[in-house]
Amino acid sequence: MSEIPNITFDLDAPGLSTGHLVVPKGADCEALSLPVFSLNKGEGPRLLITGGCHGNELEGPIVARRVIEWLPETQVCGRVIIVPEINPLAVQACTRNTPIDGKNLNRVYPGRADGSVTERIADAVSRLLLPMADTVFDLHSFGPTWDFPPAIITHPIADADLMAKTLKMAEACKLPVTLLWEYDAPGMFDTWVHSQGKLFICAEFGGGTVGAEALAIYEAGVRNALIALGFVEGKAERPTYRQKKTSQTLETLLSDELKSPASGIFEPRCSMLDEVKQGDLIGILHPMESLSAGSIDIRAPTTSVVCAIRSGAHVDANEELVYLARPLNL
Ligand SMILES: [Zn+2]
Repeated sequence: MSEIPNITFDLDAPGLSTGHLVVPKGADCEALSLPVFSLNKGEGPRLLITGGCHGNELEGPIVARRVIEWLPETQVCGRVIIVPEINPLAVQACTRNTPIDGKNLNRVYPGRADGSVTERIADAVSRLLLPMADTVFDLHSFGPTWDFPPAIITHPIADADLMAKTLKMAEACKLPVTLLWEYDAPGMFDTWVHSQGKLFICAEFGGGTVGAEALAIYEAGVRNALIALGFVEGKAERPTYRQKKTSQTLETLLSDELKSPASGIFEPRCSMLDEVKQGDLIGILHPMESLSAGSIDIRAPTTSVVCAIRSGAHVDANEELVYLARPLNL
């Protein structure tokens, strides 16, 4: 019989508490202890913030820790639970997936108590943390191989009321982009949270390195969300990004994904948030087999905005190169 996950302290205790979420050992590894922060100021909204789902996206763990620093001084009501690194094994390995079982934590929800370690983490979160929250913020970033603007992402939700509430919450973060992203993969955390009628928003961020400016924008977005939910008093501030304080709401469809026609080195010729017309050059794919093999132009199939563009890593054939988007018209 498999062991059951537990939390080493009473999440219902008033005030500030810290301890661990214990994910039981299994056939593949020993038990894990994930640090958990809880701040319970009584009646009000209930929020779970998670970072470090993917181990090569460090903005989330860093911003979660920053929020832990200032929240005790500013939270006026309700309950916030924060787990800065929901997948410490992947963070330590600096990999997207958990190195032990090769699984993506954001594809195994609601998890399995008798599964491999990634499934046991999802099971522990589903059983013990999710019931304590009405809203979840999952702090991701696009990782080191993409250029991507600071954004809140949500996927289409069948429940129209929850979709509207989610978009409103996402826009309240006031990040440069709010993105409704048509995406369909089983086992995602957001799908599981939505199936329980709860709000879920995902912060994404991208490009190369984890820098101070990006972290400041990311942190401002989380603070704005905490203001919108009523946890924190004050005025939401739109962060400055590329010398501008603007926000736009975009949508990207499955057909907006441009894949690489061959393996090679991708040379971007556009920057993120550039507007392109049909036929405009977005980038060039350089096969490496021979210098005479001929490079391949990647052109815009339609008028759109470049929302995410691959950078800094060799690509395989059929890997995603670019995500295009357009203003969302509801
Ligand atoms: Zn991620």
